[in-house]
Amino acid sequence: MTQPHSALRAFADAAATETRMVEGLSAWISIESPTHSAEGVNRMMDVAAAAVADAPVEVERLPGREGLGDTLVLRAGPVSNEKPILVLSHLDTVHPIGTLERDLPVRIEGDRLYGPGSYDMKGGAYLALMAFKEVARAGTARRPLVFLLTPDEEIGSPTTRTLIEDLGQGAGAVLVTEPARDGGKIVTSRKGVGRFDVTVEGRPAHSGSRHADGRNAIREAARQILTIEGLTDYPRGVTTSVGLISGGTAMNTIPQFCRFSVDIRVASVADGAELQAWMLGLKATDPDFKVTVTGGMNRPPYERTPEVAALFERARALAADLGIDLQDVPRTGGGSDGNFTAALGVPTLDGLGIDGDGAHTLQEYGLVSSLVPRARLMASLLETL
Ligand SMILES: [Zn+2]
Repeated sequence: MTQPHSALRAFADAAATETRMVEGLSAWISIESPTHSAEGVNRMMDVAAAAVADAPVEVERLPGREGLGDTLVLRAGPVSNEKPILVLSHLDTVHPIGTLERDLPVRIEGDRLYGPGSYDMKGGAYLALMAFKEVARAGTARRPLVFLLTPDEEIGSPTTRTLIEDLGQGAGAVLVTEPARDGGKIVTSRKGVGRFDVTVEGRPAHSGSRHADGRNAIREAARQILTIEGLTDYPRGVTTSVGLISGGTAMNTIPQFCRFSVDIRVASVADGAELQAWMLGLKATDPDFKVTVTGGMNRPPYERTPEVAALFERARALAADLGIDLQDVPRTGGGSDGNFTAALGVPTLDGLGIDGDGAHTLQEYGLVSSLVPRARLMASLLETL
């Protein structure tokens, strides 16, 4: 039941569109763009800006900060007082330069398009940009449209959080193109995320001749880690994980320092506040050691409020018109930039990106067959919400 002037007409020839999209996305994932390579991320910003050059889209490019890449703000649709729809995508990946050549070459196997960031989230960013461009061309958006492409999501969005919140604050709805889950399901709630760095200082000594004088920082860190990991409480939705550790200078030296990083996930704002206070108040188990903690809750929980549920129902109805049975998943542990806008009370839908699997691994792929249906769904959301 496509409207005569709908942007969906641009996707009518599904086979040709899919071929074109595979080609376009393959070019995107052939550009390595780990967060800390500003050069790589900026090349992605170049190709994204070039992709909309032949459409009525206003492109604003904000220079990178703190050594990170640039940000793009794309605007289209009517100029009106209606609250805009905000689309959020990130173009950085977790894969270091060289992954493409060494471990994860761009290739198609059956329905799978492999490559760094194919699933998280160049696939989603690409298909949403194609939808955005076609809606801009067709002139069918009801509301102003804003598309934000960011350089730093994978490290917690340190340089773009304020912009995301500023644009989110005024938006009527936020659509996030993180990967789809379990056969195309979308995301309507996420846990909050905290990141902490802990430094333990003991006293160094020769491990043979002066053993009794030493205070082993690794031993104290081990005690602290067991306590921290013991806070995991699955029924309450709390998990703690020590994901990085380093310490010591030589095998035969009692180590003075040990450092480790803690990842904490929570389901509620209250749990986040409680665990943050607990972590920042961490004390040594023995006065001969010093424990220092930095960090805090980074992303607030994204809760499935009645407004989120209502937006999901509207998306579900639009998807049904396209022959898609849209489902959502139970609360997921991974955070995204959607957490920032959802925490402001702005109705947010996430997981609207490509279907696939293997995020953050060397087996990462997006499903080719999901490109056109997801682009059509995005176009329909941008035209109708
Ligand atoms: Zn992502």
